[in-house]
Amino acid sequence: MIIAIDGPAASGKGTLAKRVAEHFGFHVLDTGLLYRAVARDVAKAGQRLEDPAAAAGAARQLDPATFDDPGLRGAEAGDAASIVAKIPQVRAVLLDYQRAFARREPGAVLDGRDIGTVVCPDADVKIYVTASPEVRAKRRFLELQTRWMEGAPAAPAFEDVLADIVARDDRDAGRASAPMKMAADADLLDTSDLDIETAFDAAVGLIKRKIGQ
Ligand code: C5P
Repeated sequence: MIIAIDGPAASGKGTLAKRVAEHFGFHVLDTGLLYRAVARDVAKAGQRLEDPAAAAGAARQLDPATFDDPGLRGAEAGDAASIVAKIPQVRAVLLDYQRAFARREPGAVLDGRDIGTVVCPDADVKIYVTASPEVRAKRRFLELQTRWMEGAPAAPAFEDVLADIVARDDRDAGRASAPMKMAADADLLDTSDLDIETAFDAAVGLIKRKIGQ
């Protein structure tokens, strides 16, 4: 059983994927982490994120044991990830790992940008999670404010957070290789007006309908 969850940054797809996996007792893979880790490793080696050979080399040597690195969270790591994610050789290297993960029993939930279109075109369920750029920016802004209150450096202005979200959407949707796109046979889940509980209930309902439970 494969559940593909795609969508733009800060749409809530990561939280949904985790909750859905927990609910059904499936494995979960946040595929954005792979691209984030590749970007981290390229930068650590002192090489340019745009360098195809360096980025593909980092992808080949990727160590899943490092995916829980807190440095991979945050918008900066996500922006760096979206630069290496444009490189076809990087995407090709990461494909095998993702497809092997998807075959895990009793089932797997993968979230990303191209799961329903490229990584698992035969997924049993495909959900495209989205929300308006303003709503996504607001969620991220509130998250940054909370972190700031907990001692992180000053949070950026709302306008900057929104500009960052829009720029990342453009980069992910506009690239030639496996662009962010809703699969033709995916169900759309717009979370603009939904809280996480309602979005979760909607996702579970959708999955149960698809798998005939
Ligand atoms: O989902 P997350 O924000 O962690 O992803 C970071 C970046 O990695 C995305 O903006 C995108 O460029 C890239 N990515 C991708 N394909 C995926 C998952 C992430 O290109 N399946």
